[in-house]
Amino acid sequence: MDKIIGIDIGGTKIAIGRADSRGNLEDSVRFPTDVSRGYRSILEEIIEKTSKLFERDSVKAIGIGCGGPLDSKKGRILSPPNLPGWDDVPLVDDIKGVFNVPVYLENDANAAALGEFYFGAGKDVSNMVYMTLSTGIGGGIILNNKLIHGVRDSGGEVGHQTILPDGPLCNCGNRGCLEALSSGTGIAKIFREKLASGRESIVTSWVKEPEEISAKIIADAAKAGDSLSKEVWDSAIYYLGIGISNIVTIVSPEMVVLGGSLTKYGESLFVNVRKIVKERARLVPVDEIKIVPAQLGDNVGILGAVAVGLLGDER
Ligand SMILES: [Zn+2]
Repeated sequence: MDKIIGIDIGGTKIAIGRADSRGNLEDSVRFPTDVSRGYRSILEEIIEKTSKLFERDSVKAIGIGCGGPLDSKKGRILSPPNLPGWDDVPLVDDIKGVFNVPVYLENDANAAALGEFYFGAGKDVSNMVYMTLSTGIGGGIILNNKLIHGVRDSGGEVGHQTILPDGPLCNCGNRGCLEALSSGTGIAKIFREKLASGRESIVTSWVKEPEEISAKIIADAAKAGDSLSKEVWDSAIYYLGIGISNIVTIVSPEMVVLGGSLTKYGESLFVNVRKIVKERARLVPVDEIKIVPAQLGDNVGILGAVAVGLLGDER
């Protein structure tokens, strides 16, 4: 069976793996991204680690998932905020030049969406929206078995739809984006601001510094009955439900797949999101739209990149 190498490049870690065309991971390696070393030095390490996994006769392609902005057609990375110095670098050509097989590039959230679509929760559908809920909120939209790339690979940014016009400032510069309201970073920031304004919470006795407060701690405190935590957590899930209702109304996918660390905290996240979607997405048959957990777990980055390599220009 043909083999594919998947390379998942993030601002804190890089994961590389070799899988067969059914997405069975045979071997993989993970290492931290030392962004201070710059592009050339990190590229060399990626090439060295990839060489160890590369089987000359069986590996047919290499897929790469990387934080954007990027140009997937030209194979270039365009100054992502989490990879300083990667300014218009020809990543695809640099890797193709060494291994001499087809190399394909996709933004990491779109790659993860493809991974879940081909190897995970979305295996049996043709129309799927994937959302990852962790420090940020990313995603990808697949319609009729194809990713929506949009102009300059900017499509599918589900986390940057406006939910509250005058809401908190988002990293993208807009106000009230879903990411600013319902991501791990957003939830913790909203919680800290409420504490600073004089609200009380059991969480202050759990941590030494407010900076230690995370979405997980807030979810735990909400479960323990802390009223401020419950208020902040519930409103984050409420806004998430609204965001998903908007997407469902526009796209009407067969399935919405939710991944990322936040989906593991509140047990009732899926129940509450489904309830809100049922209330708000009035013109779509919501009972026929599945809202389900992602299946690939920590391998979603590598297997997403593998899907990119496997599908090549057909994605
Ligand atoms: Zn935003």
